[in-house]
Amino acid sequence: MLLRRTLMLGVLWLAVALCATPTDVQSQRPMAPEKRSRIPEKEQSGQPPVQAPVPWVNVHVHLVAGRGPQQDYAGAVDAALREMDRFGIAMTIVLPPPQVDAQATHDAADFASAVQRHPGRFAYLGGGGVLNPLIHRYADPARVTDAVKREFAAAAERIIDGGAAGFGEMASLHISHASEHPYEFVPADHPLFRVLADVAARRDVPIDLHMDAVEGQMPTPSHLAGYANPPTLPDTMGALARLLAYNPKAKIVWAHGGSDPLGAMTAAAIGRLMDAHPNLFVSLRIPPASAPVHNKALTGAGLDPEWQEMFTRHADRFVIGTDAFMVSPSVRGRGPGISFAEKNVPAFHATVRLLSLLPPELARKIGRENAIQLYKLPAR
Ligand SMILES: [Zn+2]
Repeated sequence: MLLRRTLMLGVLWLAVALCATPTDVQSQRPMAPEKRSRIPEKEQSGQPPVQAPVPWVNVHVHLVAGRGPQQDYAGAVDAALREMDRFGIAMTIVLPPPQVDAQATHDAADFASAVQRHPGRFAYLGGGGVLNPLIHRYADPARVTDAVKREFAAAAERIIDGGAAGFGEMASLHISHASEHPYEFVPADHPLFRVLADVAARRDVPIDLHMDAVEGQMPTPSHLAGYANPPTLPDTMGALARLLAYNPKAKIVWAHGGSDPLGAMTAAAIGRLMDAHPNLFVSLRIPPASAPVHNKALTGAGLDPEWQEMFTRHADRFVIGTDAFMVSPSVRGRGPGISFAEKNVPAFHATVRLLSLLPPELARKIGRENAIQLYKLPAR
């Protein structure tokens, strides 16, 4: 099965390379990029640009491009560029969401050519559509044979050989927030996560990990009970600590700090893990102060003092990852990605506000320099 999927991926790569000539890609677009870039930013968005204190890097963005012949990653990339210019974002890292076998999976091979047309503005991660489904297919560790580990490691190596700056988005515990949005769980120290940590350490690339935080066990909150989630959610924090200790050279970027759906991803819990594990990084997803989530860094009163203390204590370990969903204008209909995209602009505003509340040195590190180092981005 793995071999078949790998072969298919190879064929897909070839197809992308052969088919995605500039003419083909452009014919799917509502407007060529050269023309668009000549239109002043103000006219494109209808609103003036927002002043960030530093040209920042957004390390966690998804593209929504549709499926089949209508698939339009170039259009989604253009949509991302418009928002980047509006909100002062110098570079964006695109990554496939953490998918499972039940979905029509996609991965970096599908969008790499669209992203690579703007090398100074984008980098990408891979594995959310190739490696993450495998981890969850082999959720029972007893089924992870040496052959499975070898094939998984080889698939991971190919993703980096293909030009990805790291692995993502991978999921340990992923709560469902909508219909067609999967519930996923394996502990973060699952045998295949350990294999991935070894490859990441060897290649010196980070792993973007989605792991909703649970300390002990907890009943699923009632507002999340309507989707694919089970009645009880498993502990996740212990396994993350074990993964971090298993290979201290593997850099783990724990995603979505500052907007916690469950309650255990506190600034203090992150701080304790960072104190013990120098290989832990956290990407911040900053929602507006009014958002109905726990452990927000930005509150109605401004920057939360506990988070500010953590940012100061571990100034080299935080990056910004807004979890924006950039939708191609040719995509029709509804889906989780399209409804999540409605949060993009409020999150960009909140992020710029957070950066402007930080002391300049911290804003430079958290907004920009840490990401450049961690993902080995070209500084611009
Ligand atoms: Zn995520």
